Amino acid sequence: MSLDRTFKITVIASIFLLCLTISAKDEFTHVEQQQINVETPGLFSHSNAFQVDFTQVAKDEYSFPLPVGKIAEKTHSDIIIETSKGDAVKAMFGGVVRLSRHTPNMGNVVVLRHDNGLETVYGRNAQNLVNVGQRVKAGETIAIVGNENGRGSLQFGIMVNGCRINPETILDVDAHALHRQLVTFKKVDKGIDVSTTRKERKKKEPEGMSLDTNDPFGGNSVYRLDLSAITSWHYPLKDSHVISNFGGRRRHSGVDIKNAPNKDVYAAFDGLVVQSGVFSGYGKCITVRHANGLETRYSHNSKNFVNVGDKVKAGDVIATTGRTGRATTEHLHFETRIAGRAFDPAFIFDHVNHCLHNCILQFKKNGSVKRVK
Ligand SMILES: [Zn+2]
Repeated sequence: MSLDRTFKITVIASIFLLCLTISAKDEFTHVEQQQINVETPGLFSHSNAFQVDFTQVAKDEYSFPLPVGKIAEKTHSDIIIETSKGDAVKAMFGGVVRLSRHTPNMGNVVVLRHDNGLETVYGRNAQNLVNVGQRVKAGETIAIVGNENGRGSLQFGIMVNGCRINPETILDVDAHALHRQLVTFKKVDKGIDVSTTRKERKKKEPEGMSLDTNDPFGGNSVYRLDLSAITSWHYPLKDSHVISNFGGRRRHSGVDIKNAPNKDVYAAFDGLVVQSGVFSGYGKCITVRHANGLETRYSHNSKNFVNVGDKVKAGDVIATTGRTGRATTEHLHFETRIAGRAFDPAFIFDHVNHCLHNCILQFKKNGSVKRVK
C-alpha cells in the first residue's frame, strides 16, 4: 500500500469518526437548531392529542421564567416580562436546549423542549448561557435578560409542535403560577387546539409553607445529628399507628398517624413554637423549632394549645388530633424538617415501637438523608 493511499484512508476514517461524534452529541437536526417554529418529531405519532396534567406539577418542577419580573405586554402568542437589568432568565420546566442562537427578530433566543411535550421560547436575551443538547432543570438559569430602555425585558412564548399557544392558557401571569388544570393539546388542520379542564385538585397533602428556618448546616454541606445523644423526646401520638407513609406518588410531606379524634398530641423534643395557626391544607397546625436543628410540624389538629414564641418541653401536650384542613379522617400529619426541607420522619422515630432510633443521621444540603451509624 502506498503512503499516499494510507494517508487517504486515515483522512476518510477520521472524517467518518468526526461525523459520528457530531451526530451523537447533537440530538437535534440542523433545522431544529436554526428555526424557532418547527414541528416536534413524534409528538403526535401515536395519537392526534396529548394531555398535560398541571395539577400534578411539583414545586421544584416549575419556575416562572423571570421570577421577580412584571408583565409589561401580552399578546396571544407572547408575553413581555420586565424586570431589573441583568436578571437571570429561568427554565420554566425541565427539558433540553433545542436552539440557542441569535435571530433577526428576537435577538438572542433559547428554545427548550420539555419532557411534557411543550416547548418554551425565551427571546431578547443579553446573553444565552446554555448550548444545544444541554439538559436543564426547572428554575435553572439559561440566559441573562436583555436590556431595553434601561430595563430588563424578556419575550416569552409557549409552543406545541411549532405552533404558538396563548401563554395565559397555561400561566396565571400575574400570580406567576401555573393554572392547576388538565390541558389537552389536539392536532388540527390549522395548528393546535387547546382545551382545558379545571379538575378538583386531588386530595393531596399540602406542600411546605415558606418559613425562615435556622440553618443547621452553617455553611457546611453536611449536617450530622446524633439521635443517641438526645435524652429528652416523646413520640407525638400515643397508641397510634401509621396510616400513610412519607413520600410516594403523592409526594407526602410527612407521615399520617392515627388514633382517635381529640387525642393528645405531644411535642417530640424541647423547642420553640414558630408557627401556630390555620394554614392552607394543613388546617390547624403547629411548627416547633428544636435546638438539634430539626423542626417538627403537627397538623390537622382540632385544637392548638400553644402560641408562637412559647417554649415547649418534649412530651408537652401541644394540640389534639382532628381533621382540619385537607384531611379525610382524624389523624396527625407529622413532619420532620431540616433547613426547611421535609424528610421521612421514619429516620427519627421507630413508628412500630414508638421510640427514637439510636443512630447518627447525616443530612446533605441537596436533601439526602442517611443513617451513618
Ligand atoms: Zn399527611
